[in-house]
Amino acid sequence: MEPLTEQQIRAAFVNCTKGESKRLHVPRDLAERPWVDLDFLGWRDPRSPERAYLVTELDGSRTALALRCPTPGTRQPPRGMCAICLTSPAGGVSLMVAPRAGKAGQQGNSVGTYLCTDLACSLYVRGLRNAGPGARMQESLTTAEQIQRTVTNLAAFIARVTA
Ligand SMILES: [Zn+2]
Repeated sequence: MEPLTEQQIRAAFVNCTKGESKRLHVPRDLAERPWVDLDFLGWRDPRSPERAYLVTELDGSRTALALRCPTPGTRQPPRGMCAICLTSPAGGVSLMVAPRAGKAGQQGNSVGTYLCTDLACSLYVRGLRNAGPGARMQESLTTAEQIQRTVTNLAAFIARVTA
């Protein structure tokens, strides 16, 4: 994806208030992120590990999501699989819950998905980060096809949040 600035990221949040999107933690090292190899940028708040965020640009439209990990520190099933990139990373997966956008979210509705705990799905799919032995399925899809599948899964999750 194209590199984004802090302002662009803050403006892209769809499921938190304007005030929250101004205050939430955005990484300081945006310029050093491997954007060209990212389908989305995901990060956690170092001061509040139960808070995670992601931003992506799909079909020219930017979307950022605020996520909660309801059970921080609780070990997930050791071979849990990420629903976005279909990796079972050695670092584990976490259930991440997104308040739904708009009225539904204000009424407390949310949607959850299992995601790589370190939010490094893009790097696992491209083989740029080692997910550990047996973490990636043997399959006949090319890397490009696996990237496409990851993007499709991410788009489906975002559609559930913004529906
Ligand atoms: Zn993943």
